[in-house]
Amino acid sequence: MKYWSEEIETMSRSEIEALQLKRLKTTLARAAHSPFYRELFRKNSINPEDIRSTEDLTYLPFTRKNDLRLSYPRGFLAVKEDEVVRMHASSGTTGQSTVIYHTAHDLNEWTDLVTRSLVVAGAGEKDVFQNMMSYGLFTGGLGLHYGAERLGMMVIPIGGGNTHRQIEFFRDFKTSVIHITPSYALHVSDVIKDMGLGPVDFNLRLMIFGAEPYSEATRDKLEASFRVRAFNCYGLTEMNGPGVAFECRQSEGMHVWEDNYLVEIIDPATGQPAGPGEIGEVVFTTLNREAMPLIRYRTRDLAQLFPETECPCGRNFRRLSRILGRTDDMLIVRGVNVFPSQIEHVLMKLPEVGTNYQIILNRVDNLDRMTIRVEIYGKMFHGEARELRLLRKKIQHELKEQILLSTEIELMEPGALPPSQGKAKRVFDNREI
Ligand code: AMP
Ligand code: ZN
Repeated sequence: MKYWSEEIETMSRSEIEALQLKRLKTTLARAAHSPFYRELFRKNSINPEDIRSTEDLTYLPFTRKNDLRLSYPRGFLAVKEDEVVRMHASSGTTGQSTVIYHTAHDLNEWTDLVTRSLVVAGAGEKDVFQNMMSYGLFTGGLGLHYGAERLGMMVIPIGGGNTHRQIEFFRDFKTSVIHITPSYALHVSDVIKDMGLGPVDFNLRLMIFGAEPYSEATRDKLEASFRVRAFNCYGLTEMNGPGVAFECRQSEGMHVWEDNYLVEIIDPATGQPAGPGEIGEVVFTTLNREAMPLIRYRTRDLAQLFPETECPCGRNFRRLSRILGRTDDMLIVRGVNVFPSQIEHVLMKLPEVGTNYQIILNRVDNLDRMTIRVEIYGKMFHGEARELRLLRKKIQHELKEQILLSTEIELMEPGALPPSQGKAKRVFDNREI
């Protein structure tokens, strides 16, 4: 099966744009039923009927995470409460949760987007799907779950953690597709080795990665270690969750499901549209949601949108690069801007380096110090001191080339750092500013 919804997935650009405009108008009219947008439209004298093209959208203000927080719990609800059939909340650990509501229609459409994405990766009804993302309010559990069931795969709703059991299940149930965070996949690959097992013991063929940024070098490492193909799946709770954009088999960016989302890339500093192909903040407008339409929602994720629309896979939905970082995870160290993903890219390319690392920032005598703690493979760790010294130098050198900063490197034994079982926490910024 090449497409799940062939008619939609092979629409031409003009068909996509016509559908977007039609749905945008409906969305704006619906949004006006929520207390937040009713007030916003009133304050800014916005009449949704004045929007005549998708470009006109840029006249409307952005919606920010803080707006969702301040409107907790129901300020964005655009339907009657009894039409709502489920809520999810974003995984943020600080501040007020942001809550997203769904009607039965919304869940049905979301499920379809996920099923569509899984088909793009090449999954089919004969596959066994082990969902290794946590269930609950987090959307990576139920979101993928229902999409995989709709496709007809056998679904194992195991959730995150309990790694030995996960690996036994791979073997006992012939799991062929897994959905996992890349940081947890790195840990699982270590445990598989510790158990004396390898890819030949399993039936795995596809991995779906999502929920956190990772580098191309990490993907290469994991594809080699599991002997599978890995696909990038992007989403955020505010836009339902996974299934907003998904990589096709060309592996050149993720198709944004533009029949459901209108995507913009803006300069995060000015709010103005970024130039074609420029990196900027990703902004989405929902186009097919009843319970909680969101208009120009600022994701804080940084990426670029490829200008070409045609793809050899037959889809004309525009493609988003991998997420390069977040506007709020950029570190400024001695005045230099650094994204954790740049550091990860360097580390994961080095064969001596293991699967886990941390970035620690301290300020000593008013000077920023960046320390990278990195696990290396066991044989190396117990080898000669001279080799370790050389390795430390090599890592320092490679990092300096990439991020232009001197770092201190602490080499750690495998397993010394706490493993990730979901979204990884890697940066520890102890600087007091
Ligand atoms: P949450 O709504 O709590 O599930 O978190 C959503 C956030 O996770 C997004 O805004 C991204 O920062 C991150 N995320 C999700 N999927 C990916 C992905 N495939 N690559 C990079 N980051 C991702
Ligand atoms: Zn494609």
